[in-house]
Amino acid sequence: MYKVIIALIAAVFISAGAFFGTDMQTGVTLEEPVSEMAEEEQGQLPPAYIVCIDPGHQKHANDEHEPIGPGFSETIIKVSQGTQGVITGIMEYELNLQASLLLKEILEERGIEVVMTRTVNDIDISNKERAEMANGSKAHLFIRIHADWAPTKAAKGAHVIIPDQHHPIPKVYLESEKAAEILINHLEEKIHVRTNSLNKRGDISGFYWTQMPVVLLEMGFMTNPEEDQMMADPSYQRKLMEITANAIEEYLTEATHEKSPM
Ligand SMILES: [Zn+2]
Repeated sequence: MYKVIIALIAAVFISAGAFFGTDMQTGVTLEEPVSEMAEEEQGQLPPAYIVCIDPGHQKHANDEHEPIGPGFSETIIKVSQGTQGVITGIMEYELNLQASLLLKEILEERGIEVVMTRTVNDIDISNKERAEMANGSKAHLFIRIHADWAPTKAAKGAHVIIPDQHHPIPKVYLESEKAAEILINHLEEKIHVRTNSLNKRGDISGFYWTQMPVVLLEMGFMTNPEEDQMMADPSYQRKLMEITANAIEEYLTEATHEKSPM
């Protein structure tokens, strides 16, 4: 008889516990989707996104060498001067900074925090140091803005470069690939810029020092007369950087949970 009473009391407590447990859980799970939906409806990003922008090159090259990555004995020039517009005569480091400052403005308008590796041309920062600045900024994405060079005037199109699979942090390679594919899609769909296929490189200065996803955008060829003049046009620059910002925003908001520090 005692056993029956104890069993009955236990059953009452267990079902009460289960009831309250469910109720409490329901309370919690109800709150989360509502706040997530509210955020999505307003189109607002959580305020924690940081992007580091590196305007490629600088006014004077630094021909000293530095290791290509942590633990690598192979060295590479610290930083070069870049190329020059075949028609406009604009130096690549100037064009890269103009476009990068536009990209900064556009991203900040969208609530994304931006850290620049440089905001002037007359400065001396190696590519390793630029990567270390990005690492120190805890950026979720490191974007490097460049313009291309070719031995012939005919070469044209934007170009996206990421580290190859030998990057010391495998996740950096995988995430960089995702970001690059999104950027290529946006460039091809929204502006009909011909993009040369995604290029994965182990010999690009600074890539192996980077501890977060990194994408290098070659905006077009400064050795191509048409593209040189297009890239010098402020309205084209803005259009190109808006598309780049759209791609960055899509990358940051997609698979948010994977954006924790690597
Ligand atoms: Zn360059």
